[in-house]
Amino acid sequence: MNLLENKIALITGASRGIGRATALMLAKEGADVIFTDFREDDNSKSLEAEITAMGRRCRFFAADASNTEVTMGIADAVQKEFGRLDILINNAGITRDNLLLRMSEADWDLVMNCNLKSVFNYCKAFTPIMLKQRSGSIINISSIVGINGNAGQCNYSSTKAGIIGFTRSLAKEVGSRSIRVNAIAPGFIETPMTQQLGEAALNEWLKAIPMRRPGQADDIARTVVYLASELSTYITGQVLRCDGGLSL
Ligand code: NAP
Repeated sequence: MNLLENKIALITGASRGIGRATALMLAKEGADVIFTDFREDDNSKSLEAEITAMGRRCRFFAADASNTEVTMGIADAVQKEFGRLDILINNAGITRDNLLLRMSEADWDLVMNCNLKSVFNYCKAFTPIMLKQRSGSIINISSIVGINGNAGQCNYSSTKAGIIGFTRSLAKEVGSRSIRVNAIAPGFIETPMTQQLGEAALNEWLKAIPMRRPGQADDIARTVVYLASELSTYITGQVLRCDGGLSL
């Protein structure tokens, strides 16, 4: 028996990286998958095809997760087409790294909107559906830099810390309706986001990871499945570090 049989899941920013691996693992575990990304491209088309080939329903929305009105429209469409939502994963995220002295207001605002406002948008749009069902699992992708901080990432780490506060607050608001809200704090994961780093930076990270390997997108995807499934029925408001020990 698959862990997510007959569940309906939505994940933001899933055309590549952690989101893509997670969307595929959700489908493998039996869920129908709705996913979003900025634009329709070869990545989104191939993901849709792969999920459909697994015998699951799949629906893609090209949408900027920081746009509130567009998000509300997606919630209406999902309500009409699927009638419910069991699992919501807020994964969309970007970096615009720089030391604070060189960080522009535009890069601060962009990262705030993509990483944090998007979580507000999707939770606000989809919580009413879960409240009516009296069930649901919301999983927000934070980061260990939201816990420990990181030089050059004042904007990014603020959003990831904000996600943790948001997760805990919403968990308290909706727990009585059997809706669980948790966050995952990945460490260093090999994805297009971290490919931009040079080899020297990569080696520095590796030295600091007790497990002596970078994380893979599937490591995070498995953690999402755990928090989405019946394996974690009494866990809410938590931040699960998935980092090979990096933050120890
Ligand atoms: P990635 O490879 O860059 O993938 C992120 C995806 O999100 C991309 O497909 C991107 O679209 C999409 N996206 C970004 N902003 C969006 C928006 N406003 N609306 C819709 N889609 C949007 O990154 P990743 O490494 O998989 O990261 C996924 C999540 O994990 C992020 O929240 C990230 O902060 C978090 N995380 C990653 C690491 C790591 O080491 N990789 C560590 C800790 C936390 P485009 O391709 O069009 O840009």
